[in-house]
Amino acid sequence: MAKRTIRSIPQERTPVREQPPSERATNFLEVNEGYDETEARREASRCLDCAEPVCMDGCPVSIDIPGFIRRLSDGDLRGAYDTIARTNLLPAVCGRVCPQETQCEGICTVADTLEPVAIGRLERYIGDLAIENDWARRPYISPTPYRVGIVGSGPAGMACAADLAKAGCQVTVFEALHLPGGVLRYGIPDFRLPNTVIDAEIANLEKLGVTFQCNTVVGRLFSIEQMLEELGFDAVFIGTGAGYPSMLGIPGDSLGGVLSANELLTRANLMQARDFPSHDTPIPLGRHVAVVGAGNTAMDAMRVCLRLGAEDVHCIYRRSRAEAPARAEEVHHAEEEGVEFHWLTNPVEILEDGEGNVRAMRCVQMELGEPDESGRRRPVPVPDSEFEFPCDQVVFAIGTNANPIIGQTSKLALDPWGYLDTDDDLATSMAGVFAGGDIVTGAATVIEAMGAGRRAAAGITRFLGIRDPRLAYDAAEGPKEPVFGIAAHEHNYVRVRLAPGAAGPEQRTAVPVG
Ligand code: FAD
Repeated sequence: MAKRTIRSIPQERTPVREQPPSERATNFLEVNEGYDETEARREASRCLDCAEPVCMDGCPVSIDIPGFIRRLSDGDLRGAYDTIARTNLLPAVCGRVCPQETQCEGICTVADTLEPVAIGRLERYIGDLAIENDWARRPYISPTPYRVGIVGSGPAGMACAADLAKAGCQVTVFEALHLPGGVLRYGIPDFRLPNTVIDAEIANLEKLGVTFQCNTVVGRLFSIEQMLEELGFDAVFIGTGAGYPSMLGIPGDSLGGVLSANELLTRANLMQARDFPSHDTPIPLGRHVAVVGAGNTAMDAMRVCLRLGAEDVHCIYRRSRAEAPARAEEVHHAEEEGVEFHWLTNPVEILEDGEGNVRAMRCVQMELGEPDESGRRRPVPVPDSEFEFPCDQVVFAIGTNANPIIGQTSKLALDPWGYLDTDDDLATSMAGVFAGGDIVTGAATVIEAMGAGRRAAAGITRFLGIRDPRLAYDAAEGPKEPVFGIAAHEHNYVRVRLAPGAAGPEQRTAVPVG
């Protein structure tokens, strides 16, 4: 095939079908309908397959992006999936929620001249196909006697569980809530990430032998120390996230009608308040809603309020649009659906209606000063710019903190902010206990949490004396012959595929397990 050049590829990004804004603002169905095969292959044909693919540097788990796109473009859809799955457990999730514009797509070479290749949409297309066709690989697993307990079933816990199960450990995931998935389940609404996708990924983990035990708050029912000393676990991974909401601490923030975005989203998503009357979870909903913050959580909260029937929904953010931390697509979708944005605006007091409920916020106008430690320009108040902003509900989406239960009920070392202290291998201060994801880094992203889960799994297998599970023999690149057994000297999880008539180790290729 002739080498593609920036002039020879389709100049326009392949558009993706979306529900019209006026329609979708009234339902919880997925906004973005995804590509079909023709669209996906057209978009894949925009990739230049660069000799030095910088896009991979933008991916926290270094997916072989040109490799999977090349296979997709050639019509080898299963091969495209196998390529992604080597480093990413959840392509259908990441294709939907990763902030691609600041990661792979942000540094795509095509973006120097045209719109970048829609890498996220292609990843989602392949991830959805894999779910539809049950492509997730279940490698030969040679059991070990080791039992590992995982605390928290978010992306960090899921990724760690997958690698440990593949390495032959008996893995039990303990989850405080009644359903697994972490923020993917209770935070991100269905119109961005349908529950069917999460269910399918959990089912894949169960097929690997992972057991989920929900309704189990570790630190209340038993402690981390008890897991090791009494419950027979050889190692523990803690991926409890950072779900403890922050409030602004301004006068009036305990009035009726003030709540955190996490509470609102958990009630709407996990507790299905959105499905009233078939579910009767109460959800306090105002007619004129002000959401403070401009991250993904704020966008989700605002769009949920619109769908639940609020008359008007406002985003109040103290910096400008350029500094808003939400994915660009979410801001765009929120705008299309009718959310009103008030940039450079900061609430200083919530005002009461005389009956203990919110009637308005007192806000101050801001302007941008010098950059702060995060590199973003610091917002400073404009003198004499206070004004009243009428609203009957205030939702805070200004960040979260570490859930304190594990820190309070174990002897694990914490950093000054209450997050778990770990070394480079994600080992905590207690032998055999590892941690990763938001509970170590503070609120971050799905793909970073998954990367941490995998890194911790590698640390745990080293701790237990099992070989690095990321190395296995596989014939993904070779002939599609049946897989034969295990070479004894290769220990447990190592898979060996022998091409007919070729028995020597030189016929084998070592690749990371997906
Ligand atoms: P979590 O996903 O928080 O999972 C932790 C799990 O541990 C939870 O299920 C919790 O119930 C459980 N748990 C806590 N304590 C205990 C205990 N004591 N015992 C048992 N279980 C316990 N990132 C993106 O990349 N893109 C997005 O679009 C995006 N949108 C987001 C939207 C919202 C509303 C939120 C809140 C976050 C969003 N994020 C997004 C961030 C991303 O979801 C998180 O960074 C990621 O989920 C962190 O994964 P985790 O596994 O560390 O923790």
